[in-house]
Amino acid sequence: MTYDLVVLGSGPGGYAAAFRAADLGLKVAMVERHQAIGGVCLNVGCIPSKALLHIAGKIRMVDEPAHGVAFNQPTIDLDAIRKHRQTTVDTLTGNLALMAKGRNVDVIHGEGEFDSTTSITVKQGDSETKLNFKNAIIAVGSRAIRLPFIPYDDPRILDATSALQLNNIPKHLLILGGGIIGLEMATVYQSLGSEITVAELGDQIMTGADKDLVRVFEQANKDRMTFLTKTQVTDIQAFPETLAVSLKDKGGERTLNVDSVLVAVGRSPNGRKAGVPEIGVNIDERGFVLTDNQGRTSVPNIFAIGDVTHGPMLAHKAAHQGHIAAEVIAGHKVDFEPLAIPSIAYTFPEVAWVGLTETEAKQQGLVVKTAAFPWTASGRAIASGVTQGKTKLIYDEETERVLGAGIVGSHAGELLGELTLAIEFGATLEDVALTIHAHPSLHETVGLAAEVGVGSIT
Ligand code: FAD
Repeated sequence: MTYDLVVLGSGPGGYAAAFRAADLGLKVAMVERHQAIGGVCLNVGCIPSKALLHIAGKIRMVDEPAHGVAFNQPTIDLDAIRKHRQTTVDTLTGNLALMAKGRNVDVIHGEGEFDSTTSITVKQGDSETKLNFKNAIIAVGSRAIRLPFIPYDDPRILDATSALQLNNIPKHLLILGGGIIGLEMATVYQSLGSEITVAELGDQIMTGADKDLVRVFEQANKDRMTFLTKTQVTDIQAFPETLAVSLKDKGGERTLNVDSVLVAVGRSPNGRKAGVPEIGVNIDERGFVLTDNQGRTSVPNIFAIGDVTHGPMLAHKAAHQGHIAAEVIAGHKVDFEPLAIPSIAYTFPEVAWVGLTETEAKQQGLVVKTAAFPWTASGRAIASGVTQGKTKLIYDEETERVLGAGIVGSHAGELLGELTLAIEFGATLEDVALTIHAHPSLHETVGLAAEVGVGSIT
């Protein structure tokens, strides 16, 4: 049998593509080397990290101003926390398997490798299955970047996957890399009792976000974490009692002794694997598969989506690309051309941004203005004791079109949806200001920020 489509990889990109293609009437197989489908995101990424952040939020309620209500110190049952994480993952991956079955998508387990532009061989143990296809989608994702000087064999060295296991709560945890993944795990471990030091090579943590938003996050966490920016980790020596971490900054070199290190320095694409280059698919020097706007690679019947392609390594970007590629294969004329891909750090407070940041706008020489509303002036934020927040809009000075937005504060990620839509619809600042926002609400700060910009705040 020849499949209309074989999807290699079952992450958010792969399953979104497989399901959409099946819904459009194509005969589809999806290949996954792990037993559970869902990829990094469902199994060892977005979902388990959010399950743990939920628990971290509960623990932090102890320290937050409760205005007349005092909580006792929490008792922490790590087994029960791990169970919540795993039940969440299992529920979602189980649902995905049912959805694949319901759509007659054949899920083939094993390591897939292209042997030509029309066939993939899937190996599991001693058995081999050859799948012939008219079209294929490469959705093989990415893997954590490894640094040469790290003693990875030492169990005290963690990556995001092992950190999510919560095998041990170290007394002092160094997070190597101040990106979203590192800071989310920092938030989890800090809540569970670890002392946290974050070492970041760049001049700010959360490099994608504007500095003024990040500053609010840093301020809110200054008593909980130590942030070392412009700091390079040059070596880690493993001793029985300690991990001796060599740090280099403008003051020189020093050693920091910690109990564990989480390496979260980014991810690299899997484009060089699975026989992809061998069948003539073009990849760049970093291992990204090159595609056009429809996801088509240099081999016309082979597409690529998700982390293995350029752009932000985010689940919703992968899923959107998956839908586009499936529709193109089904004969539709569609392109992947989003104006706005939201990014959210699910930290406390959350930091969320979409579209152009102020920094990017300036780098691109665009003439923009910003309008911001501080949460210290929001009725809902004051009543809820969550005034550490800010809502900022970035807009074109001439047309007043909203080009980007950033929010830091409680539920910032949820508040960003309206602004993602505003950017995609080409809304102006006035459109946002004239939209009635419920009072008192945190999303009201979006309307109030727009009112600041149009000069009509009352
Ligand atoms: P993946 O999810 O990586 O899936 C690829 C799949 O292909 C894997 O299951 C892999 O086993 C399989 N595969 C690879 N090669 C083969 C082969 N040869 N044969 C068979 N199978 C193969 N993103 C967000 O948007 N929001 C978040 O909150 C978020 N949190 C994250 C937290 C952590 C700790 C991490 C690590 C990542 C997080 N991400 C988050 C990123 C997100 O997980 C990825 O962007 C997303 O999973 C990419 O989807 P994908 O389909 O491209 O690939």
